[in-house]
Amino acid sequence: MGQRHRRILISNDDGINSPGLFALAEAMAGIGHVTVVAPERERSAVGRSITLHKPLRAQRVDVDVPGEAVEAYVSNGTPSDCVVLGCLDLVGETPDIVIGGVNRGGNFGEDILYSGTVSVAMEGVIMGLPAFAISVASLPMGTSLPPDPDYALAARFARALAERIFEHGLPPDSFLNVNVPALPGHRINGVAITRFGRMRYRERLDKRRDPRGGTYYWLAGEPELDGAPEGTDIAAVMAGTISITPAHMNLTNPIPSAQLNALVPEASAYHVAGS
Ligand code: MN
Repeated sequence: MGQRHRRILISNDDGINSPGLFALAEAMAGIGHVTVVAPERERSAVGRSITLHKPLRAQRVDVDVPGEAVEAYVSNGTPSDCVVLGCLDLVGETPDIVIGGVNRGGNFGEDILYSGTVSVAMEGVIMGLPAFAISVASLPMGTSLPPDPDYALAARFARALAERIFEHGLPPDSFLNVNVPALPGHRINGVAITRFGRMRYRERLDKRRDPRGGTYYWLAGEPELDGAPEGTDIAAVMAGTISITPAHMNLTNPIPSAQLNALVPEASAYHVAGS
């Protein structure tokens, strides 16, 4: 496939004005034609949500990326909606790859079940396309990213990864989840293939009182990072390493059938007498 004909679809969950999105678009424009379809506002943690009960819109917007290789659209939809709009209409033909990011903040372990960025890659998989998600993660872990992190390094890494995927392909139904430590390039300690760790949050619910005496809540919480086992995405980024976690969307758990069969109720427990 000639590189001029590569079609790259990019979306995110931080919204169309995110610097990470355009760092990625700019890097990818060097290796193909880029279509950006991104939410009009921040949709972080909307997960796999799609829009079924109102019209979806997508409007062409001008982007400040050199050359003519980036076409961008802003949508009222979720990240997953944006991928569907891109794949089935806006790109104009089937994309060769779908990329989510570059997200502001890491996506580790159970985060991926909430992440809109990762949902972009998952929607790409549903469309039958190679896909990955890429995020910049703060270090030390659990701290906030600086207000203006440098997304260019993650974007360059994404471009190099996309080139490898064009060359070698990804197995069907697979995607990659990439976390890049927010460090200067000379402090990044290589690349590791990892598995998902456990991303647990301490004190997730902050209960407060508003000025009129009503109760409100913030979902908050500090990540619990103690003892992230070797080989996990969390441990890799804590060590300053870029983490690539291979993933699929089949959540089936291979619990031994003997153990599961013991959990299946007898017919007498749910058959109503006389029915
Ligand atoms: Mn986000």
